[in-house]
Amino acid sequence: MSNDCYWAVDIGGTKLLLLLIDSSSRVLFRKKIKTPQPSSPQAVAEAIAGTLKEAAKSESLAAAASPSGIGVCTAGFVDNRQGLVHQSPNLDWHDPVPLGRLIEERINCPVQIENDTNAAVVGEVHHGAARGHSNAVYVTLSTGIGGGLYLNGRLYRGTGGFAGEIGHTKAFGKGRPCKCGGADCLETWASGSALAASAAELWNESELNSGHISTARVFDQADQGNAIARSILDHAAENIGLGLSNLVTLLNPSCIVIGGGVAANRADFFDKVACYTRKHAIKPAVDITSLDIVAAALEPEAGIWGMYSLITGRAG
Ligand SMILES: [Zn+2]
Repeated sequence: MSNDCYWAVDIGGTKLLLLLIDSSSRVLFRKKIKTPQPSSPQAVAEAIAGTLKEAAKSESLAAAASPSGIGVCTAGFVDNRQGLVHQSPNLDWHDPVPLGRLIEERINCPVQIENDTNAAVVGEVHHGAARGHSNAVYVTLSTGIGGGLYLNGRLYRGTGGFAGEIGHTKAFGKGRPCKCGGADCLETWASGSALAASAAELWNESELNSGHISTARVFDQADQGNAIARSILDHAAENIGLGLSNLVTLLNPSCIVIGGGVAANRADFFDKVACYTRKHAIKPAVDITSLDIVAAALEPEAGIWGMYSLITGRAG
């Protein structure tokens, strides 16, 4: 058996997750560290290289110093072919960052970078909830809304690497600016932040004054019978369902994987999203095609396992 090992790294706004995995998918080392603040590209590359080198000091992990590949994913607009992160609001990167090169300079090993939800769809198809599917859509409902497309048996990146951004598809409501620079994107009306923003706009004074407005509080209020909270959630579920139904109509996938904290462990909300998705898609794509709509299985490591599949050449 080969002794190859691979590093897979997920860069988040607050945490970096690093796993060393051998060619048989065994995890040899796992570490979570804080994202450097300020999160300059050099500081992030240095933190990754430092953790890798530190791990390799252990006798049993000597191979960690000379991995066969490093895969790194992060939220933002990522050009996989050039190793560039064009924009990453979570890291406060607003100009193109040659992240692949910055890490390669420090580790001397080929580095592949990818958008985190692109990596997540690959992870869920190869190791998680969408195993066995050749056409799958992944959507994460979180502070924002992200997506990844796996089509004809491989990751679909589009021309520049920017495909799958379901959170920034349009025609949902009117008058809310989005972090992407546009307005009225799906995520401005249906993400975790959007639910709290809607509550802030619609709740009366006593509701507003009784504590911090969070996504969790909107769900709690809905559970307690608050009609406005219920209608905010129903509206968000329908908007997400509409967004997903358009993807189903366009792409005819056999699986949709829903991840992220907003729908996790909230069966009612999850079911509503699934119901609206099926209702608004063309009928053959949900009746003749057997469409699975399932919860993500690998969080918070879906992106890590996707990067592992990509750098080991097991996914397109
Ligand atoms: Zn947007």
